[in-house]
Amino acid sequence: KLSKRLQKIADYVTIGNRVADIGSDHAMLPVYLLQANVSPSAIAGELNRGPYEAARKQGADAGLTARLTVRQGDGLSVLLPNEAETVTIAGMGGSLMSDILEAGYAAGKLEGVTELVLQPNVGEELVRKWLLKHNWFLKSESILEEDGKIYEVLHAVRINDAEKRNHELYHSGNKQMTLGVEQWFLIQLQMGPYLLRQPQQVLFRKWQHELNKLERICGQLATSELPESAIKRDQFLAEMNVIKEVLQCLR
Ligand code: SAM
Repeated sequence: KLSKRLQKIADYVTIGNRVADIGSDHAMLPVYLLQANVSPSAIAGELNRGPYEAARKQGADAGLTARLTVRQGDGLSVLLPNEAETVTIAGMGGSLMSDILEAGYAAGKLEGVTELVLQPNVGEELVRKWLLKHNWFLKSESILEEDGKIYEVLHAVRINDAEKRNHELYHSGNKQMTLGVEQWFLIQLQMGPYLLRQPQQVLFRKWQHELNKLERICGQLATSELPESAIKRDQFLAEMNVIKEVLQCLR
């Protein structure tokens, strides 16, 4: 049985799509997708030797070597063009994830890929920015809590009118906010346009957590005498005020 987090990712994968899971570790996700007959075939990509071996073993133990190809390499470099319709990347930071997507895009590895399911552990806004920049339509997102950790899962698709639909998505629904248009746009990149439209308790918990973290950092910066610290602290305080205002409006 998959974890709640991996199950959410699996639920977004379109039935019948061949999948490439990048940074697959034990290949839990592709093994599940094959066993559940969601995907006819899968590629598991791993940068590191240990997880690569673990993925191979997992595939062999499950009797799936004919349908699961495990490859060692950096990011999307393991993929040939038109080998998969869905790419999943989960359990790493948004910065690394967008670097992997950018490098893969530049190398033509996303040709034929029509769906991305992404679960960044932190820095979700970098992933939303990447999707927007490359005209992937953010079709839906989820937030969930498991074992005391909060995860976001983003589901993006390549469609013809992605640019128009993303524009509609990010430039509507700012009715109760006192934020300016640009600030509302940036907040959506950070907190998620869908997550903000249907705010769940877990979203409040996540951002209260982030506020506490920023508060602690500001406390530390206040004890420093460096002028940069004061500037940084002011930036964080301004950021915190925007987040607080948004949370208040959502309640
Ligand atoms: N995707 C799995 C999940 O969500 O449960 C495993 C997540 S694990 C925390 C992150 C994995 O990404 C590690 O196994 C690591 O070796 C791999 N990884 C890190 N950088 C990578 C890269 N540039 N290309 C491929 N895999 C990478």
